Formats: sequence, structure tokens, C-alpha cells
Amino acid sequence: MTITGAWQRTARGAGLLAADGSVTASIFAEMSALAMRTGSINLGQGFPDEDGPAEVLEAARQAIADGVNQYPPGRGDPILLDAISRHQLRFYGLTVDPATEILVTAGATEALAATILALLEPGDEVVTFEPFYDAYGGLIALGGGIHRTVPLHSPGFQPEESELRAAVSDRTRLILINNPHNPTGTVFSTETLALIVELAHRHNALIVTDEVYEHLTFGVPHIPITTLPGAAERTITISSAGKTFNTTGWKIGWLSAPAPIVTAILAVKQFLSYVNGAPFQPAIARGLDLPDSFYTGIATDLAAKRDVLAEGLRTAGFEITVPQGSYFIVADAQSLGYAEGAEFCRALPELAGVVGVPLSAFTSPDHRHRYASLVRFAYCKRVEVLEQAATQLAGLSAR
Ligand SMILES: *Cc1c(COP(=O)(O)O)cnc(C)c1O
Repeated sequence: MTITGAWQRTARGAGLLAADGSVTASIFAEMSALAMRTGSINLGQGFPDEDGPAEVLEAARQAIADGVNQYPPGRGDPILLDAISRHQLRFYGLTVDPATEILVTAGATEALAATILALLEPGDEVVTFEPFYDAYGGLIALGGGIHRTVPLHSPGFQPEESELRAAVSDRTRLILINNPHNPTGTVFSTETLALIVELAHRHNALIVTDEVYEHLTFGVPHIPITTLPGAAERTITISSAGKTFNTTGWKIGWLSAPAPIVTAILAVKQFLSYVNGAPFQPAIARGLDLPDSFYTGIATDLAAKRDVLAEGLRTAGFEITVPQGSYFIVADAQSLGYAEGAEFCRALPELAGVVGVPLSAFTSPDHRHRYASLVRFAYCKRVEVLEQAATQLAGLSAR
């Protein structure tokens, strides 16, 4: 029996599926299994190995005890909607109506899925940077869209203005950005953001911005693109509690946008998860109201972790791009004599007892060659773990 649907057709075209329709084996699953099998330190997947703030965890336990266990309202628990609105005002000076301009979702992933499905017509183009968060390719295929990418150039991972201009046209429906950027750790400059707004206006495109690392920048401010002149009317801003509060398994995310856009996205979202995470919603509201010291604290802690891993990678002989934000650092295995990041990642458990993910997992077949020797490592781990990884990696330079 041939099992196929619209997604398989577009996904095959985008290189997400093998010719026989099978899902190309996920390198994330392969690397996590490898870490497990070899007892290696897993710096492949980006999830923290410590719990977040105790108040937030306690608030979830309390909500369950208090009976907050049934379907919440479709747009989200008003307690969380209000807290998101306060958060946008406190950090960015943005006035967002909690009743009409915010939607709570099953993580940033559902916010992305519902947005793309709601706003894309089959054949519309979606422009993203490359490398890109792996879900983008799959979701654009799901929406029947055509994925066009603008390469970020190593080292430094900034776009070329001319390449960005060339990628956006009247066929572009969405410009989908991720800032701070996974996998490269880039924080885009105000000039790049302003150019995106300019292009969106010129070609009547909408901007979708995935800002799940909004509180995890190091020494540079996070500037939501929606705060730029002319952006708010055409921008959908997506975030999530997972990366800020170390609650990636709770899958509480949200988006904010002009009311008619939120309504259009809600129409799709109601048929995806409908709603999710009732007791976690007031708990995340509690987190969003934590004082500024919490937010500066998580960025300072993570910057220190980044420094431990960066130093270890340099000592090992890698060329690295020091990230300004996010959970990740990109290292070039070429400096250790490996032209293929995937081959290097398969060898690394044996060589150093550490696991990373090749950047090829975040690329399209057409541009994969540009990033062939690059590897992503996560530093959202306990300092002892990172120090151990650094020590083990240092042994590579002796080879
Ligand atoms: C982790 C991550 C997500 C997924 O967020 P969830 O809230 O877990 O769905 C989306 N985008 C980027 C860039 C991420 O790193």
C-alpha cells in the first residue's frame, strides 16, 4: 500500500523525504542514540539539564491541586494572556491587547505551524535565512509553500544585503526569521531587521519572527522586529516559555499580532491542538512576572556556560563563531581535518566522548555544501558537564 498525502509530495520536492517516500533518518535521533550507546556527553539536543525557577514549578503543582485541569479558553488562560501583555510592555514598550492580539499555543512549534497554515496559499514563497531551524522546512512543505533561503555566511553568520534583496519578491508571502538564531547564535543587527521590514512593505509580505531566545542574548539587547517603524501592522511575533524557564517539555508558547491576523491563525489552531497545558499556563504567567533580576540572571549564567564551552572548543583546535545569543555554538571541524561535519559527529564519541549535531541538519540540499564541515554544540547544560566536555575535547588537539 502506498501511503501518501499532500505533505509527502511537497516534502519530497523540498528534499525532506527520500525518493521512496521514507522520512530521512533524523540526525538528532541518531546522535542522541549514539550518545546513549557510548555514554558520551550529549551536546547535540538543545534542552537544559536543570530545572527552572522553583516558583514556576510550584505554581504548576498548585494549579493541578486547585483543579485547573480542564480545557482552558481557546485563546489561552486570561491569566497568561494578561501576563504576556505585561511582559511585552515591560521589556519592549509594546501595547498588546490580551483579549484580541495574543494567542497561547502548544509551544512555539504550534504557533509556527498554525501561522504558516493560516497565511500561506499553495505555491506562495517563504523566505528564511539558512541554516534554519529544522521545523521550518517541514512546516513550509506542510503548507504547500516554496522555501527560499538566504545564506548566512560563515564565520560570523550575517546575511549579504544583496542576497536578501534578491530573495524577496512579489511571490513572497512570508519572511520567517529567527532572532536570536538557532543554530548559529547570531543576533541580527537593527540594519538587517530594518531591511526586512522595508522588503516586506515593498512586496506586501508578512513577517513571522521566532524569538524563543529573546531573553538569552549576551551583551547585546534583543530588539523585537515588531518594534521597528512600520513593522507591527504586518508582524507575527512568536515566543515560548520553554527556553526562558527551562520548561521545554511543557510546550507553552504564544504569538502576538494585529487582531485580524490572530483571528485567522486561531481558526487553524483550533483544529490542531485546540488548547493545551491548562495548569502550566498560570505557572508560566507566574514566570513572566518574575523580577528583572531573574531575566538578567539567566542571560549571565548562560553567557558563562557559553564561555566554558567556547574555551574548550578553541583549546581543542576548532575555529568557532562566538554566539551573541541562543543555546548554541558553531565550530568548524575543518580545522581538525574533517571536511564533513556528519562524519566528524559520528567519530566524536570515540575521539572525545562528546556528541554534537552537524549543521547539515539545518540546511537545504542546494546549500548544504556551504556548511559541510560545521557542527553545532549546545551549552545549555550544567557548568560541570561543560567543563568535563571541554576537558575531553582538549584531548583532540594532542592528536
Ligand atoms: C526550541 C525552538 C523552538 C520550539 O519551541 P517549542 O516551544 O518547544 O515548540 C522553536 N524555534 C526555535 C528556534 C527553537 O530553538
